[in-house]
Amino acid sequence: MSFVKGLKCRECGRAYPKEALYVCEYCFGSLEVVYNYDKIKEALSRKVIESRPKNLWRYRELLPIDGKPADGLNSGFTPLVKADNLARALGVKELYIKDDSVSHPTLSFKDRVVAVALTKAKEFGFDTVACASTGNLANSVASQASSARLKSFIFIPADLEMGKVIGTLIYKPTLIAVEGNYDEVNKLCSEIAAKYKWAFVNINIRPYYAEGSKTYGYEIIEQLGWKAPKHIIAPCAGGSLITKIWKAINEFSQLGLVESAAVKMYAAQAEGCAPIVNAIRENSEIIKPVKPHTIAKSLAIGNPADGYYAVGVVKKSGGWADSVTDEEMVEAIKLLAGTEGIFTETAGGVTLGVAKKLIEKGRIPRDESIVVCITGNGLKTQEAVADRIGKPAKIKPTLASFEERVR
Ligand SMILES: *Cc1c(COP(=O)(O)O)cnc(C)c1O
Ligand SMILES: [Zn+2]
Repeated sequence: MSFVKGLKCRECGRAYPKEALYVCEYCFGSLEVVYNYDKIKEALSRKVIESRPKNLWRYRELLPIDGKPADGLNSGFTPLVKADNLARALGVKELYIKDDSVSHPTLSFKDRVVAVALTKAKEFGFDTVACASTGNLANSVASQASSARLKSFIFIPADLEMGKVIGTLIYKPTLIAVEGNYDEVNKLCSEIAAKYKWAFVNINIRPYYAEGSKTYGYEIIEQLGWKAPKHIIAPCAGGSLITKIWKAINEFSQLGLVESAAVKMYAAQAEGCAPIVNAIRENSEIIKPVKPHTIAKSLAIGNPADGYYAVGVVKKSGGWADSVTDEEMVEAIKLLAGTEGIFTETAGGVTLGVAKKLIEKGRIPRDESIVVCITGNGLKTQEAVADRIGKPAKIKPTLASFEERVR
């Protein structure tokens, strides 16, 4: 049974069928999945969800597939860590880390969107999947295409971190390194997508793909005992994740699965690529594209597809936004490791660094519940910290050498 009615233009509201479409023919607005919430309300309860396996498909009525889940059967339901050491360090009362740095199978939240995208691509009958990626999406599409027995074409900027490149090549996709930044890669991919009959997960499958991010939000609420936190800080690249966490909270509220949807959403970006944060600071709805200069390569999208909607979510929710320098990002990565034993990538450094700033500036109160979104793993961006964490103490294999060196 399907709970999906069809697609709808986010701008003019025009309806479209459930096909591999992503842009409105009339106004060029992006398309979004529409559900039958009355039917979902009859089918879905806290009890039903809790009775299911601990993966992202436990919310399957709220995901845009018609048949059975086919991919990502071990993805999702990552830990929500009560971060008391970090809370003490930041001087706040109640703090959680939603930890997708340990996501199965490729250690970032992109495993969620790809699970949904590939299941949908198979429903549509595609035999080849593709993506434009800043790194983590490349890893996840390549990995899950392998296990889904699909062919894959992956497009990345040529200057990505070694960990992201190796973490893609290992699955034997066709990997194309484009001499240009992500925005150029994405533009090229739009042309390729128009010509080749592939499922481009973040282009022609994007309305379905993006829905996978909602599971990150559902899990936060379920793992807090069916309560919403007061504040959520999320990293922004294209701006999709933050809008989908917000959508998740509002859907749960509409379905009566959570009492209050009064959550303030905060956008986090790197100073060297902060088009969404800039718009919020300037109280503008217009996203001015930028040329990215930051070590947070996974967030380096200068012209974010969902930037406008991300700004809208932050404003509607009563939240705010901020950015951090590369230096502050690295300090935040070290702070998380040193307090909670979690090694996050540069994007996590951005999110925590921004959370710290917003708390210090009084934008986020110290006595209310806060969730920091940690979306990727530090082993993939080792270049960012390699020179900033000291070296091992080298000794001879003798007790004397040990004592001499360690004292
Ligand atoms: C892609 C990505 C994001 C941002 O996702 P958007 O939905 O494009 O805003 C955040 N963190 C990590 C680690 C990512 O790979
Ligand atoms: Zn339209």
